[in-house]
Amino acid sequence: MSLWLNGIGVSRGIAIGRVQKLSGGDLEIPEYAIADGAIDAEIGRFVEAQARGREQLQQVRSQVPAGIGGAGQDIAAFIDAHLQMIDDRSLTEAVAGAIRSSRINAEAALKRQRDALVAIFEQMDDPYLRARRDDVQQVSARLLRILLNRERKLPADSAGTPAEPNIIVADDITPADIILLAQAGVAAFITEYGGPLSHTAILARSYGIPAIVGLHNARRLLKDGEAVIVDGDLGHALADPEAQALRFFRAKRDEQHTRRAALSGLKEKPAVSRDGTKIRLLANIELCEDATHAADLGAEGVGLYRTEFLYMNRKTQPTEDEQYEVYARVVASVKGPTTIRTLDLGADKQVDSGARSGPTPNNPALGLRAIRLCLKEPEMFRAQVRALLRASAHGDVNIMLPMISSVAEYRQATAFIDATREQLAREGARMAAHVPVGAMIEVPAAALAAPLLARYCSFFSIGTNDLIQYTLAIDRVDEEVNYLYDPLHPAVLKLIRTTIEAGDRARIPVAMCGEMAGDPRYTRLLLGLGLTEFSMHPASVLEVKRIIIESDVRALRAQAANLLETGDPQALAALMSA
Ligand code: PEP
Ligand code: MG
Repeated sequence: MSLWLNGIGVSRGIAIGRVQKLSGGDLEIPEYAIADGAIDAEIGRFVEAQARGREQLQQVRSQVPAGIGGAGQDIAAFIDAHLQMIDDRSLTEAVAGAIRSSRINAEAALKRQRDALVAIFEQMDDPYLRARRDDVQQVSARLLRILLNRERKLPADSAGTPAEPNIIVADDITPADIILLAQAGVAAFITEYGGPLSHTAILARSYGIPAIVGLHNARRLLKDGEAVIVDGDLGHALADPEAQALRFFRAKRDEQHTRRAALSGLKEKPAVSRDGTKIRLLANIELCEDATHAADLGAEGVGLYRTEFLYMNRKTQPTEDEQYEVYARVVASVKGPTTIRTLDLGADKQVDSGARSGPTPNNPALGLRAIRLCLKEPEMFRAQVRALLRASAHGDVNIMLPMISSVAEYRQATAFIDATREQLAREGARMAAHVPVGAMIEVPAAALAAPLLARYCSFFSIGTNDLIQYTLAIDRVDEEVNYLYDPLHPAVLKLIRTTIEAGDRARIPVAMCGEMAGDPRYTRLLLGLGLTEFSMHPASVLEVKRIIIESDVRALRAQAANLLETGDPQALAALMSA
């Protein structure tokens, strides 16, 4: 009998195949006492397990394939993170300490330390850091399996037959195992744990393999060898499907393949609408390595480089020179312009190396965040601005200021940048003659004051993620109110239109870099609102380009004007992309 199961779809696409469960799931971890005279030998057993784990990871790292875009570097970085963790003192020294002080076996000591570290990671507000809990669990699981002689055997032939490839079902999958399984040609992954920021999810997306995470009890509910359909878009799995369902999903999968193949032909084509409007398609990047990946996927430059990721996963802030080297590398590797956003720390993005300490504010999203924090911490801001201005000697740099809420605040920030430039010039530093500075429009006050702000800004970029949060008074990370998060709310559309209009009047470019810009459902609507620069996750560039090429911008503008005036739901439906 067919069975529908629901999890979180984290890597898009349809896969049809047979269930293959990964063995060695939950481990029974025994705890027993160690005699005084055997303690050194027990610690030695743990050290040997560490060496074996290190060896296994190094072997997998040497097999990271070339030819999967920028993902190869990401994957190697994940494995390096696990290699580092195997040797991390917080894990290893504590285990040896517990064996000695509590006189217990290595497995039990490791389990205690793992649980303590996981509890710390779980309390972190930052979702990226919280997801590092998975690394602790995966590294501990590897060592526990070695200690218990229960090493996970990856299926020798994981690909199945071409007609019926395998769909891997597991409690969780380590990055190292994902690489081996992807190379073996598995069709999809289903895991019981993990979220959209887990490494399983990130790697599955990099490899383009459909994946569902957080599907609780998947190993109990799915049988080995059973037919299953995975819909990575919606997070559904259908076990033992009937003929009619199989026909439907096969058709959907084939349609997706055809669409993807057709899109790759658009890479070299300009993003020009049917009636001749040229649109600029740019990439949002988080890491230096993403820049090359973005160009491979057809982006004309970088519209948002989120620099705060440079400050994450470390105890101290990056120095000016360290930042300069990273920015210069990004700028030199991007063909078009690189719009670098100054630090947007605070709210949901907290870091260990954050400048400020003290009690957590009641409303962090409304507190000392982004440009507010930078202006309050001039030394931290100065190091970044100096690094950015120096990097401008290597290419086309724009500096973008996040969370601007007033003209006075914007001018305070630009006065700071000007003073920093003068100081650098006195020191004889090399810089571009002109570095455009612009504002992110992500606070409703900034959108409403856009005509005034436009007098001082070289460009605007609309950050819809925050603009929607602040306009509709919905915390973007609060699951309880997620259902109210509505990019199509008339107030949001009006603020977008006001911003674009103000930019057009002042003859400054207006881009959009929030998630809305990369969601193909909204492309026609945004074209209708007059948007001509879209910045997005690189994987969406070609799909958005296809819609632009098929659109008549003049007609869409008339339709959007009508929508703003009447709020007619039918006018809205007509503007949404199919
Ligand atoms: C935004 O708010 O739309 C944006 C692009 O910035 P972030 O998501 O980093 O806050
Ligand atoms: Mg934002």
